[in-house]
Amino acid sequence: MTSLSPLLKQATPVVVDHASGSWIHATDGREYLDFTTGIGVTSTGHCHPRVVEAAREQTGRIIHAQYTTVMHKPLLELTDKLGAVLPSSLDSVFYANSGSEAVEAAIRLARMATGRPNIVVFQGGFHGRTVAAASLTTAGTRFSAGFAPLMSGVHMAPFPYAFRYGWDEDAAVEFALRELDYLLVSRVAPNDTAAFLIEPVLGDGGYLPTPPAFLEGLRERADRHGIKLILDEVQAGCGRTGRFWGHQFSSVVPDILVTAKGIASGFPISAIAAPVALMSKGWPGSQGGTYGGNAVAAAAGCATLDVIRDEELVENARLRGDQLADGLRVLQHKHPVIGNIRGLGLMQGLEFVTAAGDPDAATTTAVQQATTRHELLTLTCGPAGNVLRLIPALVVTEHEIDLGLERLALALADATND
Ligand code: PMP
Repeated sequence: MTSLSPLLKQATPVVVDHASGSWIHATDGREYLDFTTGIGVTSTGHCHPRVVEAAREQTGRIIHAQYTTVMHKPLLELTDKLGAVLPSSLDSVFYANSGSEAVEAAIRLARMATGRPNIVVFQGGFHGRTVAAASLTTAGTRFSAGFAPLMSGVHMAPFPYAFRYGWDEDAAVEFALRELDYLLVSRVAPNDTAAFLIEPVLGDGGYLPTPPAFLEGLRERADRHGIKLILDEVQAGCGRTGRFWGHQFSSVVPDILVTAKGIASGFPISAIAAPVALMSKGWPGSQGGTYGGNAVAAAAGCATLDVIRDEELVENARLRGDQLADGLRVLQHKHPVIGNIRGLGLMQGLEFVTAAGDPDAATTTAVQQATTRHELLTLTCGPAGNVLRLIPALVVTEHEIDLGLERLALALADATND
């Protein structure tokens, strides 16, 4: 008998039988409240009936056509629906399967359009696990160690991580923009730079919202130097932050937007959006892959965007996110090991620190494991592994947030000495 890779075996004690909304029903009969939702993928909750039905119906019509050869209806409809939520200047969309692929397509497009090699990324950013996407990732050495050489032309600038520096947000933004300017005169010539690549909220890098003033500073520098601003909305997009796109907390409009995860409630599809004049500088046949823009995934994407609109899930993310953040602050009073709580909407992180203020990964892991014992699924993140992240489905109810907070309180009591 063949077994799973030993690496997969250690991953989790939970084996799913079926799932619905915010709930995972395990094969051993236990019922878990899911505050991970596949890292924000199942935006409309597990197995939303409209998403399930759309996929079922599409499967009987056509499962797949290579959309660069034969176009199909779900992709045209998805493009229209995305057009309704994208900034109006981003009027052209290209599809792939995963976030990593879409990030790579965005990088190619920026390089092809500018004829420049360099990409500036920001410390703690996560952009995927394929070799080029991992080369752009600085959310932890575990994502890039051991398979060098990485893609060249990637340069890292600081992120305004106010809590870690012990500064207020304005000071952190000023510092990070100054350091970026210094990078652009000392090492990475603007005329050789194709793109700035950043997430609106650092995801795997620690659930840190990018301050609006920092995004605005990047936009200003990008305009000044003809550099493309790429926003990776893979984790923060599709309503999760309480706005449709995470960057909409600022006035900034990107040149290229990358989306995946929540766009199709768990079906694999991703997209990049850009102004048509920019997109036409790319070469579609050189990007994407066999399954890009798959018909069933696109139909699920259409249903997902309809559900987000019809059930007012962006508003729900904002309201339930506020409820969650309020509850977390109460827990923080009881547990000084929680040094910082931050996030936007249903994307909340708790940073654990020692009495000396250093990252406390051991407690974070202990709390995460204790939540599983209390039937609440959570995840850790951050380069130092000391952030617990909570990512409920966008359909989460008031009662489920209260229940999640109760279970988290039990886990904190188990796993900390506070
Ligand atoms: N960008 C961001 C911001 C992500 O969070 C992720 C996945 N965690 C990716 C890119 C990569 O997406 P995928 O795993 O679908 O390749």
